[in-house]
Amino acid sequence: MGKLDGKVAIVTASTDGIGYAIAERLAEDGAKVMISSRKQQNVDRAVSNLQKKGYTVSGMVCHVAKKDHRTKMIEQTVKEFGGIDMLVSNAAVNPIFGPILDATEEAWNKIFEVNVAATFFLIKEAVPYIEERGGGSIVIVSSIGGFAPSELMGPYSISKTALFGMTKALVPQLATKNIRVNCIAPGVIMTKFSEALWKNEYSKEFKERIPMKRFAEPNECAGITSFLLSSDASYMTGETIVIAGGLPSRM
Ligand code: NAP
Repeated sequence: MGKLDGKVAIVTASTDGIGYAIAERLAEDGAKVMISSRKQQNVDRAVSNLQKKGYTVSGMVCHVAKKDHRTKMIEQTVKEFGGIDMLVSNAAVNPIFGPILDATEEAWNKIFEVNVAATFFLIKEAVPYIEERGGGSIVIVSSIGGFAPSELMGPYSISKTALFGMTKALVPQLATKNIRVNCIAPGVIMTKFSEALWKNEYSKEFKERIPMKRFAEPNECAGITSFLLSSDASYMTGETIVIAGGLPSRM
């Protein structure tokens, strides 16, 4: 028996990196998982890889900032798997890298549209379905940058700080529906998204500043997310778990 047997999960941005690792772990723990991201070929590849391992997964294109994509993904999950118990809001973008005062309005709006607004609306749209199942659990993927803003990723870091606030703000109303909501704040996880941090000339020096002296693999975020979604965390809501090898995590 897996600890998520009989449960249905949606994981956004789950064709690569942290989202893929989380989706795989939830499936391994017994959940039926809806995989998604913007590109059909990525969805096909991820679904096929996970199905080959014997997991119950399906997949579809969902650009999280597009309302019609979110609606279709939710409806398709309910149609294929009978309902929704768990949601992992994992998608985020960072189109700019540089001093904060160089940030353009266009980049700022994009970051907040995808990282913050889409997270909120996806949760809002999924909640009635989770409520229909008698309750469930949500995990929001933030970042260590939300605590300690990166000098070169200012607006992105601020969007991740906003997710800590969103997690707390959602707690009271979701608690009345028997839905828990928690957050994870990863440090440097070796994915495409963070290549600029772990694959450049300064990476060695940066690594030395991490108490555990290493960067992490995506699957090091997966078991913790499965735990937060499971009944093992049944009295836990509104919390953020930092997965950052000991990097400071206070504002
Ligand atoms: P990644 O390996 O680059 O994977 C990104 C995934 O997101 C891909 O599946 C991509 O597929 C999908 N995607 C991108 N934009 C999307 C959108 N608008 N809608 C739906 N899917 C989208 O990235 P990652 O490092 O795993 O990042 C995942 C999350 O972890 C993000 O929230 C990020 O902020 C957070 N995080 C990462 C790190 C790190 O060091 N890696 C640290 C802290 C927090 P398509 O191209 O097909 O859309």
